[in-house]
Amino acid sequence: MAGRRLLILGGTGEASALARALAEAGDWAVTTSLAGRTRTPAALPGAVRIGGFGGADGLAAYLRAERIDRVIDATHPFAATMSANAAAACARLGLPLLRIERPAWSPAPGDRWIDVADAGAAADWLVAALPAGSAVLLTLGRQEVAPFQRCPDLRFVLRSIEAPAAQDLPPDCLLLSERGPFTLHGERALIDRHGIRAIVAKNAGGDATAAKLAGAREAAIPVLMIRRPAPPAMSDATGAVADIAGALDWLSRPR
Ligand code: NAP
Repeated sequence: MAGRRLLILGGTGEASALARALAEAGDWAVTTSLAGRTRTPAALPGAVRIGGFGGADGLAAYLRAERIDRVIDATHPFAATMSANAAAACARLGLPLLRIERPAWSPAPGDRWIDVADAGAAADWLVAALPAGSAVLLTLGRQEVAPFQRCPDLRFVLRSIEAPAAQDLPPDCLLLSERGPFTLHGERALIDRHGIRAIVAKNAGGDATAAKLAGAREAAIPVLMIRRPAPPAMSDATGAVADIAGALDWLSRPR
């Protein structure tokens, strides 16, 4: 019977895989927390709660009320606010916290990556570099699209799990509501079909969405790579691992 209580801050493939692995082992009572960004999240074993906690204070109150023993931050590498709140709340309560930090992508020979700080900087580069009428593939979340409204002369193909609000879209924008994993074959076809001249991506890392990088390399088109936010400061009770094997090992050790 599972006695120890684990909170997984989720929203990633790693978080789901970890919840599944722990459900099989049965040593931990697992709750996965989702931000609620997608309306139809994939089914998960264990308990699931959805929506913000109300900052670090709200999270600390939740952890206390639910008598959570450990926390694993398996959020997306760009979910910096949630990670900072987790670090602050766990430090305050003296709770062990582990972060799963998926390794970032790095360029391979033949890649033409433009390192940018955010979607706004990517939009500025596109306006300066591409002729009017060029097609650009945006592989971003629905909250990051609005800056591309400053590129009214470009054509966009936006691939996103959920459609953004209509008022956030650039004027010429085709929506593709798709969830990875994506194949190189599929990415090649997408680049050809739409005559894509540049791709905008976040440096999410991982295999599920990496095929677009090989597709861009083959097509000799630039990738505007939005760099990751800085990871949260770590306390003594915090560690980081690269994958769920590291997380399972951490959970198997006494605190
Ligand atoms: P964020 O900026 O770190 O979080 C904003 C707020 O959302 C948090 O302060 C928290 O609200 C709530 N939140 C985030 N993750 C949560 C979780 N697992 N459980 C409960 N509440 C959570 O992150 P974001 O706004 O979700 O996304 C930032 C970036 O990450 C974007 O680039 C997005 O595309 C990318 N991303 C996020 C997810 C995801 O599932 N969140 C998945 C894929 C990509 P309170 O302060 O009220 O607790």
